[in-house]
Amino acid sequence: MNLQRFPRYPLTFGPSPIAPLKRLSKHLGGKVELYAKREDCNSGLAFGGNKTRKLEYLIPQALEQGCDTLVSIGGIQSNQTRQVAAVAAHLGMQCVLVQEDWVNYSDAVYDRVGNIEMSRIMGAEVRLDEAGFDIGIRPSWEQALEDVRKRGGKPFPIPAGCSEHPYGGLGFVGFAEEVRQQEQELGFKFDYIVVCSVTGSTQAGMVVGFAADGRARRVIGIDASAKPERTREQILRITRHTAELVELEGGIADEDVVLDTRYGGPEYGLPSEGTLEAIRLCARLEGVLTDPVYEGKSMQGMIDMVRNGEFPEGSRVLYAHLGGVPALNAYSYLFRNG
Ligand SMILES: *Cc1c(COP(=O)(O)O)cnc(C)c1O
Repeated sequence: MNLQRFPRYPLTFGPSPIAPLKRLSKHLGGKVELYAKREDCNSGLAFGGNKTRKLEYLIPQALEQGCDTLVSIGGIQSNQTRQVAAVAAHLGMQCVLVQEDWVNYSDAVYDRVGNIEMSRIMGAEVRLDEAGFDIGIRPSWEQALEDVRKRGGKPFPIPAGCSEHPYGGLGFVGFAEEVRQQEQELGFKFDYIVVCSVTGSTQAGMVVGFAADGRARRVIGIDASAKPERTREQILRITRHTAELVELEGGIADEDVVLDTRYGGPEYGLPSEGTLEAIRLCARLEGVLTDPVYEGKSMQGMIDMVRNGEFPEGSRVLYAHLGGVPALNAYSYLFRNG
């Protein structure tokens, strides 16, 4: 495998920490050891998150092509667009963000607080658009690119979740390499890695990275799109493409992409009662926060699987905490009583 041939622009602090979730593990019976790798605090740029790690491999292209404006797209409370806005500010670039109506939820200040508030403060041009949830390429986005060109700028397009970008999977190939190094220091290996999936390049990168030591199928994706067919197809496509880029030996089989579809509902961006219970449980036992859109669902999945005995006794499970906490502010009504 050859990740090193791709230039990487550092935007993160370095390897993100791995910490045990001791009280949660004990609460769930103590037969499975849970750990979290903290991508939610991987950078000092507006709280970071998984998109910041992906952007480390996209930014060298933007710089090489002489682009002056980062253009991206997401929902109103998109973590991706907040991280793009932070990186643009950090690099002295302009930023245009298309924020679509992806979620059937409207807290009093849903379009004012959390991620979108931070993007505005960091100087991004935020464009609200009425289109609904879709992880593909959108006309509103093409329009934003065209508008930047018309005013004499040079846009660098960054698709939803960085996922459709050809290099979108590379960051999380690096995540797997980082875990391998940390495992040497810890003196053990993780049996399973739990990760939330929507646009797919996080899991795709991990599958490629962990395929290098035979653990592709130990990466358990938890769907949070509630449109798992489409997400699965996209993960597999990006996995194959990324495997080719880094010249992974042995290739990728369909079965290498494991996507659990039990926890994505009721809809993208809306938590179930089980999601809310998982958010509260992890917060109260560990002081670790997760959000109702993404990480609350993968936390719910991991907790449920431990409760069901789906991980063999003695397993060490690594929860990839991908960020997303700023969106909590937009869901204040759900937590008005804690
Ligand atoms: C984007 C995001 C995800 C999903 O990652 P994909 O690469 O889009 O599958 C999960 N959690 C958080 C917090 C995110 O911002």
